Amino acid sequence: MSETKPEKKILDLARRAMPKQTPWERVKNFDEVALGYPAETAVGEAARCLQCKKPLCNQGCPVGIDIPGFIRRIVEGDFAAGVKKIKKTNALPAICGRVCPQEEQCEKTCVLGNKRSPIAIGRLERFLADWEAAAGRTEVPDMAPKTGRKVAIVGAGPAGITVSNDLIILGHDVTIFEALHECGGVLMYGIPEFRLPKAIVNREVDYVRSLGVKIFTDFVVGKTRTVDRLLQDFDAIFVGSGAGLPWFMEIPGENLNGVYSANEYLTRVNLMKGFRFPEYKTPVKRPSRVAVVGGGNVAMDSARTAVRLGADEVHLVYRRSKAELPARAEEVENAEEEGVIFDLLTLPVRLIGDANGWIKEMECLRMELGEPDASGRRRPVPVEGSNFIARFDAVVIAIGNSPNPLIPMTTPGLEINKKGGIVTVPETAQTSRPNIWAGGDIVRGAATVISAMGDGRVAAASIHRYLMNLGSKA
Ligand code: SF4
Repeated sequence: MSETKPEKKILDLARRAMPKQTPWERVKNFDEVALGYPAETAVGEAARCLQCKKPLCNQGCPVGIDIPGFIRRIVEGDFAAGVKKIKKTNALPAICGRVCPQEEQCEKTCVLGNKRSPIAIGRLERFLADWEAAAGRTEVPDMAPKTGRKVAIVGAGPAGITVSNDLIILGHDVTIFEALHECGGVLMYGIPEFRLPKAIVNREVDYVRSLGVKIFTDFVVGKTRTVDRLLQDFDAIFVGSGAGLPWFMEIPGENLNGVYSANEYLTRVNLMKGFRFPEYKTPVKRPSRVAVVGGGNVAMDSARTAVRLGADEVHLVYRRSKAELPARAEEVENAEEEGVIFDLLTLPVRLIGDANGWIKEMECLRMELGEPDASGRRRPVPVEGSNFIARFDAVVIAIGNSPNPLIPMTTPGLEINKKGGIVTVPETAQTSRPNIWAGGDIVRGAATVISAMGDGRVAAASIHRYLMNLGSKA
C-alpha cells in the first residue's frame, strides 16, 4: 500500500490534458479540435486548486471572475452554482473558455505556475458553460428594476455584448445595432469553426437576447444612421465597432487575384460558409500552395483553414523566429501537428503574377535577428543577397488590422489617435463626447476578446453611473 502513494500524488498534481481530435482526422473537417473535459476530468483538475486566501489568478482576469469561487463549485459537484458564479461577471464563458489567452492572464498568475502547471482555468470555465448548454439550462442573474433609460450599442462583438449584458441586468433598456447579418463580430467572421463553433456564439448571443436586449442586424451605424441621429433616441451610446480595416505589406503585387487579407479570407469561410459552396453561395478558391504571412492567431487560423480546404502545402511566412511568434502556443502546436510549414525569418518583398493577373510566385528575403526593438523583441534584419522566389497560388496577409474608420469619420467631436482608434479615458471608457463610450478593437486596434470584454465591463459601470445621475425615467 505504501508503494502506491507516491504515484497517486504525482497523478493528482498533473494538469489534465485536453482531449482533441487527432491531426489526421481534423484536417479533413471543420469540427472543433479541442473536445472539452468530461466531468470526471474537470473535477480532478479543479481539485488541484489550492483555494488560495489571496488568489493571484483573479488579478489576471480582465473581467474579474471569482476564479477560486467557481472552481470550488466544480469540486463540490454543484455545476449550476459554478455557472452562476461566472455569469455574474462574464456573459460569454463558453467563448472565453475557448479563445482567451489564459496562459497570459489568469493562468500566468496562478500560484501553481511557479512550481508545477497552473490550474487549467480556461478549460474549467469552458466545462461549466458546456455543461449548462448540454443540460439545456440557462442560469439567469438577478435583474435590477427597470430605469427607463435607453442605451444604444454599436456592434455585437465581445465588447458590445458585454456592455449589453451588464446594462440590461442593471435595469436599462439596451439595443444593439450590428452591421453584419449575424451577431458576434470577430467571434463570428474571424475565428474559425474548428476553434470556436458558431452555434456557441449564437447561443451566447441568444442568452443576452433572452435577458431583454434588442438586436438589429444589417444596420450600419455611420451609414444607416449616424451616432448623432441615434443620440436623439438614446441617452447614451457605446461604440464597439471593431478593427475591420486590414493592413497590407505595401509591396508590389498585393492587388493580384488570389491575394487576400486574412479578414476577407476568414470571412468568406467562417461567416459566408464558403467551405460549403455550392450549398452556400460564396465561393472560396481551393489553391494547392498557400502562403500565409504573419505570426499571430489570425495567421494560424488562416493557415489551418487553408489546410482544411485541401491545399497540398501551406506555408506560414514570418519575419522573426519561432520564439517571437505572437500566436498562442497551443495554436502554434495545432498548426504544426496539422502539417503547416513554418518559413521563419522570412520576409516577402514582392508578389509576382501570371499573364491573367493571378498570383504565381512570391519573392522573399531571409532575415536574422538583431538588437531588441521598442517591443522588446529582437529586430529582424535582412540578410543581404538572400532573395529567393517560391511558387504560390494564394497568399493570405495576416499582419494586423486598424480600427474601423466609419464611426470616427462620421461623428464630429470624437478624439481619434494616430492609429485611427477612438481615444477614451481608461478608467471609464468614456470618449471626448460626454454621452459616448467606446471599447475593444475600435480603441485598442486588434486586441484579445477578453480585453474587449474588460473594456465593456468598465464602460458599462461608467454608463450606469452617468444614467443614474440623469435619474430614472421608469
Ligand atoms: S491562484 Fe491558482 S491555485 Fe490559487 S486559487 Fe487561483 S487557480 Fe487556485
